[in-house]
Amino acid sequence: MGLEQTAPAPWREVSPGDWSNWKWQLANRLNTVADFDAFIDLTPSEKTALSVQGLFRVDITPYFASLIDPHDPNCPIRRQVLPTEQELLQDPAVMVDSLNEESHSPVRGLVHRYPDRVLMLVTTQCASYCRFCTRSRIVGDPHENFGQVDFEAQIDYIERTPQIRDVLLSGGDPLVLSDRVLGGLLERLNAIPHVEIVRINTRVPVFLPQRVTEELIATLRRFQPMWLNLHINHPKELTPELEAAIARLADAGIVLGCQSVLMAGVNDCPNVMLDLVHRLVRNRVRPYYLYQCDLVVGAAHFRTPVAKGVEIIEALRGHTSGYTIPTFVVDMPEGGGKVPVQPNYLISMSDERVVLRNYEGFISAYSQPADYRPHNPEECAHCRAQARPGNQQGVFGLLRGRARSIRPADWETTHRRERPDGS
Ligand SMILES: *Cc1c(COP(=O)(O)O)cnc(C)c1O
Repeated sequence: MGLEQTAPAPWREVSPGDWSNWKWQLANRLNTVADFDAFIDLTPSEKTALSVQGLFRVDITPYFASLIDPHDPNCPIRRQVLPTEQELLQDPAVMVDSLNEESHSPVRGLVHRYPDRVLMLVTTQCASYCRFCTRSRIVGDPHENFGQVDFEAQIDYIERTPQIRDVLLSGGDPLVLSDRVLGGLLERLNAIPHVEIVRINTRVPVFLPQRVTEELIATLRRFQPMWLNLHINHPKELTPELEAAIARLADAGIVLGCQSVLMAGVNDCPNVMLDLVHRLVRNRVRPYYLYQCDLVVGAAHFRTPVAKGVEIIEALRGHTSGYTIPTFVVDMPEGGGKVPVQPNYLISMSDERVVLRNYEGFISAYSQPADYRPHNPEECAHCRAQARPGNQQGVFGLLRGRARSIRPADWETTHRRERPDGS
């Protein structure tokens, strides 16, 4: 099937059949000064960046390029995919692998950071390349691609590790794989008894809605429960083509979420975010995460202060439906993982009362129960059955009394002070 639209201005000579064919879109991506110069008023900075050797790969589907405002260098679509000289700036804060994924990889392309879930990188290829890519160390590079040998090793690790109940397919973008390869992977994962859910993280519907064909839908819907996380950063991305692709996914019973990256000059505005989350919910997509921009090479200029994310959540919580509000997270540098950051609503506490404030600044006291009988984990079948891996019990382990402290590695030596008499 195809979306029967006609191509916009610069592609007027393209047949509707070609335009709605995802393979045509991939084969005709734009990546040179000449490609863009034909229809965009390129800035000197964009021209320089496009001419530099060794920059993170540029490739934009004609469909996504057609959404760029040719006269506005600050167009939010344009800023996400067209490089500028700012990518060449040195910034002491950034790293090649800011989330320390390589050290969390037991086998090539599998990131096991959290106790019960893994990130499975199935390709390094995308439909178009985001200038703020967190995995630009491998993404886009055809020589770094993953293949059947890697899939076998990844699946073997998942089979051998019964604590894994959730597998996230990512990359690169899993939906650039053929239906046959993708279906084969899902089949293998589906056959592992302890894998309860599979998630797909994808930006293909945004860059290439033509890829969401009846055949792809038929492949995906065979594997329930299926969760699919889109990546949409600005309301301008929600075109009729994308909305139609989202509707096909939702109609197939696929649960849809959206993760967005907070970026200076793209969506660092509470009202842009409000428009975006309202549009998402109207399209049956639940906003999931809003990410602080990672400290990754080439993307430093997209960073906002963390305060901007807190301000955005302040502008949403209470002001609009809870279903529209993503969790703002900072993925901690050096592999600490995601931590939520939000405004403080808890003002104070005593045994008797908790003082809270709401979004309006109204402050009131909630009375705590005087006669609460604490939950007894010894009497609870769920608590008895739940065995958390010892070294990742964390702060919850402290609450449950399984440990009394969590200490930095050199804590003991630092705090063994010499007395003046040498004793
Ligand atoms: C984000 C992420 C996950 C999934 O985290 P959720 O909070 O469950 O969505 C899993 N593994 C890695 C390495 C991640 O970065």
